[in-house]
Amino acid sequence: MSEDLESYRLAAREWLAANLPTVDGGGARLGSDDEAWQRARELQRILHDGGYAGIAYPKEYGGRGLTPAHQRVFNEESAGYEMPLLLNVPTFSICAPAILDFGTEEQKREHLPAVLRGDEVLVQFLSEPRGGSDLAGAITRATRDGDMWVLNGSKIWSSGAYAADYGICLARTDWEAPKHSGLTMFIVKVHQPGVEVRRIKQVNGDSEFCQEFFDDVQIPASDVLGEVNGGWAVASRLLFHERTAVGGGSPYVSGGHAVARVPEPDLVELARRGGRLDDPGVRELIAESHILRTVAGQLVDRVSAGIRGGAMPDPAASLPRLFSATSNERRIDIALAVAGPAAVIPPAGAPGDLGARYLMRQGGSLGGGSSEMARNIISERVLGMPREFAADKGVPFSQVRQSQTPG
Ligand SMILES: Cc1cc2nc3c(=O)[nH]c(=O)nc-3n(C[C@H](O)[C@H](O)[C@H](O)COP(=O)(O)OP(=O)(O)OC[C@H]3O[C@@H](n4cnc5c(N)ncnc54)[C@H](O)[C@@H]3O)c2cc1C
Repeated sequence: MSEDLESYRLAAREWLAANLPTVDGGGARLGSDDEAWQRARELQRILHDGGYAGIAYPKEYGGRGLTPAHQRVFNEESAGYEMPLLLNVPTFSICAPAILDFGTEEQKREHLPAVLRGDEVLVQFLSEPRGGSDLAGAITRATRDGDMWVLNGSKIWSSGAYAADYGICLARTDWEAPKHSGLTMFIVKVHQPGVEVRRIKQVNGDSEFCQEFFDDVQIPASDVLGEVNGGWAVASRLLFHERTAVGGGSPYVSGGHAVARVPEPDLVELARRGGRLDDPGVRELIAESHILRTVAGQLVDRVSAGIRGGAMPDPAASLPRLFSATSNERRIDIALAVAGPAAVIPPAGAPGDLGARYLMRQGGSLGGGSSEMARNIISERVLGMPREFAADKGVPFSQVRQSQTPG
């Protein structure tokens, strides 16, 4: 640990103790309702004013211009404090980095400082009702009209859209080009005439997912992100950032793992409460869970370093992404087995959300692209195996057979 990082750690430790409330159990407030989003924005403002927002973001766009190692140190120190974890995915770790990569100077200056102050929440409008895996087959359309684009269609599974200010939205702008070449990415104001956001009730009781309906939504031409008809490059970059974030390797995640909004269950404590700590089978399960977590962390470090140093291609981000999805599922299964009936009817004082987590455990194999798609990417773009056959390759999109009529 360099002297610089060590003194940064001590300063952060002191600042956190003086400025943020602690949270029993080491996590943030649960829930994704309006109050939780409001609180996340307030907390982000406190971090910003204290000089701890956007630690690895460039200074000219409101960040601190420090290294991912500084962010990691801050994350370690902030465990146990109330942090705006809701803002990590997709705002800090996926959407804002894509604006950093592809935005015009004006877009960067407009959105990034606002994001880091907690004034702007960004979400992803990518998946459509016709299917999310074939992202390049999007049929939401944008048509140029003078200085404006007019957006029509529908997006779905947009996490947190009801609480967001802008959606990064992929739309088809040229129907005569092959499917990957006729797409454009837009920065769309969520709350404006023509946009209807409907929340979707999930199996665990949350309503974090949304579906949006766009009816002649007016978008200024200056809100195109990247090139007109160059939307696939932006989408690919968003997906890279998403895999990196969900896999646990994003330098922009603040205050802990990108998607873990709740503390890890303490398996030893769960086994002790159930009187099963001496059971060899239970002890093996606890060890397996610990090993999976350790390997996941090391895989992130190894692949992140490989991509940064050029030894691995960007699609290698799918490796930790896939491993975190499959290992998290297994670890939640283990937690349920160790907890026994306490998973659904916890004794007084015990964490009571394991049952609900079990219901949602497969979400990690879908969000940011499914585990099957991650395997396809690893085989084709990391291992160099033959590409999957695509009947629509090179065909004008208007001539591609659809299960739903375009437009
Ligand atoms: C927690 C979570 C958060 C999400 N957040 C967002 C968000 O903020 N914004 C957003 O736009 N979307 C979001 N999504 C949606 C997500 O991106 C999609 O669920 C995902 O891309 C899969 O799309 P689909 O559900 O339409 O399944 P489909 O694409 O219909 O696929 C169905 C099944 O077929 C398999 N399959 C499809 N094609 C292939 C193939 N070529 N080879 C092998 N198998 C294949 C898939 O793996 C899957 O098992 C989120 C999803 C989850 C679970």
